[in-house]
Amino acid sequence: MVFRPELSWEFLSSDEINARTLRALRNHVRHLKEVSPHYKERLKDVAPDDIGSFEHFQQLPLTGKKELVSRTDTFLGVSEEHIVETVVTSGSTGRPLIFSLTASDLDRLAYNEALCFHGAGVSPADRAQIFVSLDRLFIAGIAYYRGLTLLGTNTARIGVLPPDMQLHYLETLKPSVIVGVPSFLRKLAAELDDRNFDTRNSSITRLICIGESIRTQDMQLNALGKSLEETYRSQVFSTYGNTELSIAYCECTAQCGGHAHPELIYTEIVDENGNVVPDGTPGELVATSLGVEGIPLLRYKTGDITFRMSDACACGRNACRIGPILARKAQMIKIKGTSVYPSVLTNVLDEFDEIDDFCIVLEGDASSEDQIKIHAALAPEMTSVISERLRARARVSLPILVSNAATIQSMRGESRKKVRIIDKRKQPTR
Ligand SMILES: [Zn+2]
Repeated sequence: MVFRPELSWEFLSSDEINARTLRALRNHVRHLKEVSPHYKERLKDVAPDDIGSFEHFQQLPLTGKKELVSRTDTFLGVSEEHIVETVVTSGSTGRPLIFSLTASDLDRLAYNEALCFHGAGVSPADRAQIFVSLDRLFIAGIAYYRGLTLLGTNTARIGVLPPDMQLHYLETLKPSVIVGVPSFLRKLAAELDDRNFDTRNSSITRLICIGESIRTQDMQLNALGKSLEETYRSQVFSTYGNTELSIAYCECTAQCGGHAHPELIYTEIVDENGNVVPDGTPGELVATSLGVEGIPLLRYKTGDITFRMSDACACGRNACRIGPILARKAQMIKIKGTSVYPSVLTNVLDEFDEIDDFCIVLEGDASSEDQIKIHAALAPEMTSVISERLRARARVSLPILVSNAATIQSMRGESRKKVRIIDKRKQPTR
């Protein structure tokens, strides 16, 4: 496979992108009706050629994670012998999903990531290190690896190693690009500092930040993003990926939202009732991935809250962008009758270097308000300062329980992610 970014649709005019997208969506619906037992039934009254506008497409049924998890077999678009890769979604909420990919799906994933890295200014002249596990049925690591190597970048699969080993490979291989989880990179910076490694004057120039938001709703860097930019003296780029859609949206060099790659994905944002909301309005990210063979989906509800932007980007790409992930839909918190994004709380907590680690535990049932407890590893005298800032910024008064890093880590159980929200609420609708 040869990477030809100049053939991507993202630099076409928005009219041309829209025309091609509408054609691709019609073809996609036709394909679903042919190969997917689930959609054959679900779309039996839909005539693909009648889909004359995006508004019309937006009337088609949404697909939820629950139905995909419970009847995954009926979504398969190919016969079993074409599957070459099995992955599992992280299962941060609900039952994990076993997901199947064909060889062509893996190539598509590589192309998607190559476009992402290319957009962020990464080139074959760079040296990259991936600080993410490539095993444990995890799709993201393999996607970054395949994307970087397709782009032609010399890539080291470092994974997560003890700090001395990380230091060794930073010193000997001198990477310019790091792919990693922001809170991990922040912790690593402190460990490197203890070992007299000067992160401000190292070979690193770009951090591709995965899994956690580094921006606030107004697109400014949050405390975590600022801290990474300063401690590594690097440009920071946010990327958001979704296993079920086999897609990632990544920030370009203009750093103002994650670009969609229009030949691979059609992006919508919907409200509580599934109606599409205007650009800039937060809602649930719903997307239709194009060209997927293994498990092709229609209007898939990701459960992630963000917003869409379709004005022209300074980088020259005319494809739409999404903002930072503001919350998981299931993790929205109800306090005194209003909904609060957990990211508002985590952004405030991230502003304090004095907090070594924290997690927010949500409890309660449908009949009551959510009970929220913040467990933080910090000196007891800091609690009043933090409470005060939470009151000022998030307009909430919450108990802060003094804990230590080991206890907080054990509260996360077996999760392979550094979970910051632990949701124990008993609400069947969630
Ligand atoms: Zn751009």
